[in-house]
Amino acid sequence: MTEKSDVKEAFDKAECGLPDPGAAMDAIARLASAALSVPRVFVSVSFGDHDIQASIGLGKSDVSTCGKLIWPVPGRAGVLQVGDLKRTKRKSLQKIASSLKSARSVLAVPVVDEDRETIGVIAVFDTEPRRFTASDRAILKDSAVSVSGLAALRRAAVLHQAAEAELKDAMEALPDGFVLYDNNDRLVHCNQRYREIYRESGDLRVPGVKFSDLIRSGVERGQYPDAIGNEEEWIAQRIHDHRYPGKPLEQHLPGDRWLRIQERRTTTGGLVGFRIDITELKRQERELSRLAWTDSLTGVLNRHRFLELAETQLAHSQRHFREVSLLMLDLDNFKTINDCHGHATGDFVLRSICERWQGQLRGHDLIGRLGGEEFCVLLPDTRGSDALIVAERLRKITAQQPLCHDGETINVSVSIGTAVYENIADTITSVIKRADQCLYKAKSAGRNRVEASDTSDQSKTSV
Ligand code: GH3
Ligand code: MG
Ligand code: MG
Repeated sequence: MTEKSDVKEAFDKAECGLPDPGAAMDAIARLASAALSVPRVFVSVSFGDHDIQASIGLGKSDVSTCGKLIWPVPGRAGVLQVGDLKRTKRKSLQKIASSLKSARSVLAVPVVDEDRETIGVIAVFDTEPRRFTASDRAILKDSAVSVSGLAALRRAAVLHQAAEAELKDAMEALPDGFVLYDNNDRLVHCNQRYREIYRESGDLRVPGVKFSDLIRSGVERGQYPDAIGNEEEWIAQRIHDHRYPGKPLEQHLPGDRWLRIQERRTTTGGLVGFRIDITELKRQERELSRLAWTDSLTGVLNRHRFLELAETQLAHSQRHFREVSLLMLDLDNFKTINDCHGHATGDFVLRSICERWQGQLRGHDLIGRLGGEEFCVLLPDTRGSDALIVAERLRKITAQQPLCHDGETINVSVSIGTAVYENIADTITSVIKRADQCLYKAKSAGRNRVEASDTSDQSKTSV
């Protein structure tokens, strides 16, 4: 065994540990007692609402007497030294003699803080009259310095605790979720709101947990709906965004809840994050989009949005060499319906027929109202012959059953022209134009008909 480890063992056996402030003060009192060979010692400091006291050889009432009588005058602190308390003429010191049994001599020095403010006292008592020496005074002054250091540490700890409590309190008072990670991406602190926001994995969000583990466990618990089906990719992206935080992110949570995530790296490499609930904002946003995109009478896409989405769909189909077909629909003699039954009934017809048509279309088909009683349907992944079948179905469902409104029966029919996307030069406008020409033909040929573009693989149909 080396010499160094011998020493270590000796230290281990000595059972030295970090004393609490009271015990440290007791130790200073014991040292003073031993160094000055006195049987009684009194030490007291106070700062703010905190007092620390220690004593040797003094009963409870003696300690309280010392607390009352041995207290340096603030600002005038000097050494108190009385060789024989029984012979003193000063009244206050006579009191000490009468209250503290068997105390014949006293030496006391103030404890001052770093601002030279008096914060306490250390006093030693002998049972005999005694002439305290310069060395005695120096020892006691050194002890006072130790007491002052201890008080400063204690005060710092108290202030630290108070600051931490205040900070935690402020974090809890935040209306948003708050989280702090250290520079190893381990969670340091999060508020209750943050745990509530992540309901499905709130219990996992505890100090010490690593961000990557939290995300992985969250995905396993279904905390992130967007991750379903592409878990590994989603996790990698989220961890990347967290590592290099930039713009705010939006995060989808179960129950169609939405969060805005704002994260920033701290100067020490940690990360501070906010979670803001934007569910209501998202709902309003969606509602505004719906209003901006749909036709208020029929609920189908409005002209602008239809053309926008159709253009995108066409470009997508072109890129992937997929077929796309388009139908132009125009209700027959609609002016007459308005004239015979009134405008309100005309509106009812538009709404009802659109509902019927929507019931016949697939989720990714697009239907829009281009104007008046004129509609357009885009059929992705549909070749001409299939588009013709769909058109025929729409024509039939329009005419097959008359509509009833306000006790009146209304017969409705529609004429339809179809066209397919043909080549790379085609745009949504050119395809619509061809379908429109077929629609014109259907009208000319007597209405309630479907006409297909000649260049496609479609054949003409009629009632
Ligand atoms: P065709 O068979 O040739 O298409 O004849 P049509 O009467 O349907 O055609 P036209 O274009 O002459 O008339 C369309 C009518 O649709 C005229 C217009 O008042 C009516 N209309 C347009 N928008 C609305 C609407 O929002 N509500 C109602 N009730 N009528 C509308
Ligand atoms: Mg019409
Ligand atoms: Mg018309």
